[in-house]
Amino acid sequence: MNVVPSALGAEVFVCEYFSKLELSLKKNTIFLALGFTALLSSLSSLVLAQQSIVPIDSAIRDSFDAISSDPRVTAGLLRIEAREAEMVREQFRLTEIPAPPFKEEVRAAYYLTLMQDRGLEDAYIDSEGNAIGIRLGSGDGPTLLIAAHLDTVFPEGVDTSIELRRGRYYAPGIGDDTRGLAAMLSIIETLNDSEIQTHGDIIFAANVGEEGRGDLRGIKAIFRDHPEIDGFVSIDGVRLRRITTGGTGSRRFEFRFSGPGGHSFGAFGLASAIHAMGRAISKIADFETPSFPKTTFTVGTVTGGTSVNSIAANAVFALDMRSNDREQLALLEERAKAAAIEAVAEENARWDNGDISVDFVLIGDRPVGRTATKDSLVQAAALAFDKVGIELQQLGISSTDSNVPMALGIPAITIAGGGNGGGAHSPDEWFVPTNSHEGPQTSFLITLAMVGIQGVDTGLLEQHNR
Ligand SMILES: [Zn+2]
Repeated sequence: MNVVPSALGAEVFVCEYFSKLELSLKKNTIFLALGFTALLSSLSSLVLAQQSIVPIDSAIRDSFDAISSDPRVTAGLLRIEAREAEMVREQFRLTEIPAPPFKEEVRAAYYLTLMQDRGLEDAYIDSEGNAIGIRLGSGDGPTLLIAAHLDTVFPEGVDTSIELRRGRYYAPGIGDDTRGLAAMLSIIETLNDSEIQTHGDIIFAANVGEEGRGDLRGIKAIFRDHPEIDGFVSIDGVRLRRITTGGTGSRRFEFRFSGPGGHSFGAFGLASAIHAMGRAISKIADFETPSFPKTTFTVGTVTGGTSVNSIAANAVFALDMRSNDREQLALLEERAKAAAIEAVAEENARWDNGDISVDFVLIGDRPVGRTATKDSLVQAAALAFDKVGIELQQLGISSTDSNVPMALGIPAITIAGGGNGGGAHSPDEWFVPTNSHEGPQTSFLITLAMVGIQGVDTGLLEQHNR
C-alpha cells in the first residue's frame, strides 16, 4: 500500500480537534469546575465528531446490528482472537517465502493450500497467478471480493527471514502485505468453522501485482474475469486506523527519443536524442500543478547515449504522473507529451537538418477512483471499527488495489490487517502483533454485513445489473 496524506483535510481536522479535547478531559481537572452540564455537552460533541467522519443511516445501522449481534458472529469474533497467535505464525511463514514482483508463484501455491485446508477445496490459481477461493451463498445474493496482495516490492535475492530485535519482528514484506494475507486467512477459517450460511457469495483472492510495475495486474484480471463482483474489500498493511475510500491515479510513461546518431567530432551538426530529451525534461520540470486535487509529476530515471564521444542516437526517460482527479491527470499527460514534441522540434530546428523523433510508451496505468462516504460499504466499515472498539481517525486516498473497482463504479475500500508496524517498502520493515486480531475481526464484520446471513438479514451489498 502506498499511502498519500488525505485530501479530506476538514474531516481530519475535526477528528484531531476532538482527540485533543478528549486529552484535556483526561488531564485537566479544572475542566470539572465547568460543571456537569458542560461535561455532558462536550461528551455528546465527541460522539457527534465520531459520526461526522461517516454519517450512518438508521436502516444500515439496524442491518449491521442484526448481523453483528448474531451469536454465531459473536462466537466467530472470539475465535479470531483465540487463534491470533496461529495466524501470526502463518503470517511469518508467508513472509519467509519471497514474492518479488512477477515472481509470486511459490507464495501463491502455498496460500492455495492454506485456502484448501480451510474449506475452500475448489480454490485455484487463475491465468494471472492469483489464488482464488469462492464461498457460495444462497445463490441469489450479491458477490463480494476480499483480497490481500501476495507481491512485495523487494527483488529476487533479498533475504526475507525474520529477526526479533527489541520486541519488534523485522523482515522485508512482513506487514505489506503478509498481514493482509493472514487476516484474510483468519476470516476464511472462521467462516469454515462456523454454521454461518451467507446470502451473497464471497470470492477470496490472494492476488499478484499490486506493487510498482505490477500495475494492479492481479486485481485487473479478477474484475475482467468476474463481472459479477458487486463490492470489494482490500486488506492491506498494518495499523487499523483509517478507511481508504479514494484511489490516487497514476500514468507512467517512457518517453523514447531516437535519431541517427554519429561521431561527436566528425558528424558534428547532427541533432542529438539526449539534447532533445534534456529540452523536454527542462520544460516538464517547470510545470505547475494543483495541490488540490493533489497532482504530481517526476522524471524518475534517464538512460541513453553510446559513449562520451558520440552524438546520442537514443535517450529514454521514465515519467511518473499522479493525481486524485481524473481530468487533472489527463491534462498533465497531454501537457507532458506536447512539451516533448515541442522539445524535439526545437532540437531539430537548432541543427537545421534534425531527424529526432519521440515515442510514448505506457508503462503504468492506475485509474483514479472514489467510493462515496455515504456508500453502505463505508458505513458498514465505520460501524465495524466501532464494534471492535477502534477509533476511526481518517478517510484516506491512496494508490491500492481498490483503484480498479472504484474506477469501474464498484464500491471498494482498503483497510489494514491489524497489528502495529512500520517501514513498509524498506529493508527495515517491522511488525508487532499486539491486538492484531482486531484486523480480521473488523473485516469479518464488514464481510458479513455486506453479504448478509441467511435467516438473519440479506446484507447491505446491492447487486449490480451488468
Ligand atoms: Zn500493500
